[in-house]
Amino acid sequence: MALENSLFKRFLTLSAFSLTMLLANGCEKSNNVAGEKVNKSPEITASAPAKNVILFIGDGMGVSTVTTGRIFIGQEMGKTGEEHVLSFENFDNVALVKTYNTNAQVPDSAGTATAIMSGYKTNIGTINVEPGKELQGCGTIEGRPTLAQTAARAGKSVGIISSARITHATPAAMFGYADSRSWEADKDIPAKIDRFNCRSLAAQLTDPGTPVNLALGGGAKEFSKTQTEQWASGSENRLYIETGEAFASLDPRDGQDVLGLFTPSHLSFEADRDPKAEPSLSEMTAFAIDNLAMRENEGYVLMVEAGRIDHAHHGGNAYRALKDFQAFDEAIATAVRKAGDDTLILVTADHSHVFTMAGYPKRGNPILGLVQMSETMQEQFGADTPYMPAKDGKPYTTLGYHNGPGDVRNPDSPPLTDNMVQGRDYRQQTAIALNDETHSGEDVPLYATGPGADRVKGVIEQDKIHGIMMKAMQID
Ligand SMILES: [Zn+2]
Repeated sequence: MALENSLFKRFLTLSAFSLTMLLANGCEKSNNVAGEKVNKSPEITASAPAKNVILFIGDGMGVSTVTTGRIFIGQEMGKTGEEHVLSFENFDNVALVKTYNTNAQVPDSAGTATAIMSGYKTNIGTINVEPGKELQGCGTIEGRPTLAQTAARAGKSVGIISSARITHATPAAMFGYADSRSWEADKDIPAKIDRFNCRSLAAQLTDPGTPVNLALGGGAKEFSKTQTEQWASGSENRLYIETGEAFASLDPRDGQDVLGLFTPSHLSFEADRDPKAEPSLSEMTAFAIDNLAMRENEGYVLMVEAGRIDHAHHGGNAYRALKDFQAFDEAIATAVRKAGDDTLILVTADHSHVFTMAGYPKRGNPILGLVQMSETMQEQFGADTPYMPAKDGKPYTTLGYHNGPGDVRNPDSPPLTDNMVQGRDYRQQTAIALNDETHSGEDVPLYATGPGADRVKGVIEQDKIHGIMMKAMQID
């Protein structure tokens, strides 16, 4: 133990020197391997309106998820990882976004999605209901229009994609009003609330007057047979599907309105997905763009949510969070490839998580692995193992959660091995034991390309994102 502790102290003394060396090595290795410039033409950005908007939301995708996801994807490609360039990292415009809800320092997805899509902050847990207006018809009385309604009134088609239930907070904020985000199905609305004319999010999505043309994701169990039949009877060219097979048989150029719910609850984590049973986020994005773009109207607004990054983080399982982030990155790459120059593409998160990357691991250290020092440092320390010891003399991981369901590290914790921590079901260690890891309150990034992207800059309130979309489409 004494040896390990002195090793630790020597590391702290030498770390500045070693880090300088590491940085020098890093610069040498850095190169833009993607190499592809993905931003849209600047002349279009400056003046013409955006005909289409694609809004990508990585649920819970804080900066630490972006950084570690970048390394994870790079390492899966056989590289050291740090130098990898994600599908949206060549976008010219970036901002930081303040995510707090009106009554919460650390927000939830209902309040933040309302801010992003509808243009005003609201209370935690409520969807498109202004603070203090609860129990007034769930926001529909004097309520402001949803993004789906606004787009439809401007003659645009509307698509919603989520790897979560389509009635879950983020996708629901596109089309619905609810005092409580838990009112997904009719059965979820308490009897005493019924008299306030509140309707479930499933009922609102399948209403004959729904402005939504495409909705793809999970959550079939939230809908009654009557509701899905009502959706399908809404117009002649309207389908309800439940299987990956049915989805694969569709031709997007037929321009059908489709409600596709491929699982009873959320779609599977990307790490566990059966590609025949459930389409990927990228496949759904490709379908939506082809389907919406061929319609003869004023363009489209499409929201794509990677909803399960958030869920994996809540479970303290970095592997599944990063696999879902990878699927999100692929979906954005698909949109960049398919969407025309008249499309504003925004990539953001609703909020972050208490997920962090730390400990001076060497360049190319497996992102899910134990912290290893470089060979040079190991030689300097005369250490017989590359693993950096913590104060307890045992190795520790690069990734961790401030709180959550993972083991709380204590003096009796068994030593971790790389085999253990790189397993797909491993929950990273934590400082505070909670059943569910929590969101965090720091700012999240916003990346933009296309017409109107130049308004994405500085540090902004989250509700300004709505205005950025409206101004880009020249909607008052
Ligand atoms: Zn969450």
